[in-house]
Order: sequence, then structure tokens, then C-alpha cells
Amino acid sequence: MSKRVLVSACLLGRNCRYDGGNKIDWQLLEKLEGCEIVAFCPEESVLGVPRETIDIVAGKAIGNESGKEYTQQLQEQAKRIKKHFKSFDAIYLKSKSPSCALQSARVYDNKRCFLGSNGIGVVAKELKRLYKDAKFFEREGKR
Ligand code: SF4
Repeated sequence: MSKRVLVSACLLGRNCRYDGGNKIDWQLLEKLEGCEIVAFCPEESVLGVPRETIDIVAGKAIGNESGKEYTQQLQEQAKRIKKHFKSFDAIYLKSKSPSCALQSARVYDNKRCFLGSNGIGVVAKELKRLYKDAKFFEREGKR
């Protein structure tokens, strides 16, 4: 049986980034040949394309233009995936994203002071909680 994998859609070449671009990862596409691939983009589902950028402020996903909080809506996207797919063999997530990153999202405190670039995205955190048995990987995609 083929492996089932969940992948950040921008790594697969979908133009779902905030600016309408993608971060296609050709090496990953090659590696996943023969797998059942489930593509998802939590931010596209919540905010559309193009959209304002988001940062993690005091643990919440906050829009940089509107100041609106999107944490719960984004986490809902992970729960929606879980309703359709009970398990994944592996989950490949885009680095540096406030939603998808595993350990490279920019994080700020509640006064907007920069704390570092080692945060986990709000959706990645939820996916880790929901898919405890899956292997998680972070990918940069094209530069
Ligand atoms: S990093 Fe995640 S939220 Fe951002 S464009 Fe890619 S799939 Fe969408």
C-alpha cells in the first residue's frame, strides 16, 4: 500500500502563498513519487490569496495589517484534515511559516519585541497534537 503524506501545498507548487507565489520543492516531489499526497494550505482556506502576512505574537497568529487574530480559524483547518484522514505516514511542512513551520517561525512577545526565529506555527502545533504517530519534516522549498 502506498504511503499517505500530508504536504504544505506551496511546496507542491500551488500558488497559495500570501503574495500568490509558491515554494515548489522539486526534490520533495521526486521523493514522494508513488505516495498518496494530500495538499493543504491553512492560510489560503482562511484568508484567501493574496492576503496580509501573519506573525506569531505571544503565541497567537496575528495579521500584520489588520491586527486581527486568526489562531483558532487556522487551527480549525488542522482539525478539518483530521476529520477526513485518520493518519499519515509523514507530514512535510514549509519552514518559516507562522502556520506551517515546525521550528523556524518568527516569534514576538505581546509588545511585538522579536524573540527569535525558532517558533512552531499554530497549525503545525495542532497537527503534532492530532497526528502523534506521523513523522514530521520541515522543508524550505525554492529560494
Ligand atoms: S506555508 Fe502553509 S500556510 Fe503558507 S502558503 Fe504554504 S501551505 Fe499555505
